[in-house]
Amino acid sequence: MHIGLILAGRTIPGFNALVDSLAGTFRSPVSTKFIDFPFTRSFRKIRNQYVADVLLAELAPLAVSGDKTVFVVHEDLFCGSREFVFSHAKNGCAMVSATRLDPRFYGPPADLPSAGLLFRERIRKEVLRQIGRLCGLPDCRDKSCVMAPSDSVEGVDSKGKEFCAKCRDSLHLEG
Ligand SMILES: [Zn+2]
Repeated sequence: MHIGLILAGRTIPGFNALVDSLAGTFRSPVSTKFIDFPFTRSFRKIRNQYVADVLLAELAPLAVSGDKTVFVVHEDLFCGSREFVFSHAKNGCAMVSATRLDPRFYGPPADLPSAGLLFRERIRKEVLRQIGRLCGLPDCRDKSCVMAPSDSVEGVDSKGKEFCAKCRDSLHLEG
């Protein structure tokens, strides 16, 4: 397996640590790329949000073939009737939005350093989950598993940071 992590528009906090962590968790090489946020037909001015599947379809050609590619964007996404989504995956490509994973989205944090750590942890969890999905893993019922579904930021925070034993097994990760 080969992982591609592509940042669109600007970087994210803890990017280098995230790359190391992905390489360690999946025991796979990780390629990284920085791209400009594309000209897009996905913006919906009335909601100030982007249509997730339209944007992902526009980004997908920029993936490196053979990779499990995750794009990280800073735009707020929605999908169908869902008011917002943290991430979206389709046709072997995934995208994570940092917007609502950032504690500052919910108001000025009392403690900036711990908000920064929380932001990094949330991004890592979502990226891990999307790579899991690209590898064919379904949602996991184990709340301590990073593959547990989370459609609120509280759900992202309360679930575990790593794959459970069953998911590790499905991914053929040892240990
Ligand atoms: Zn699991």
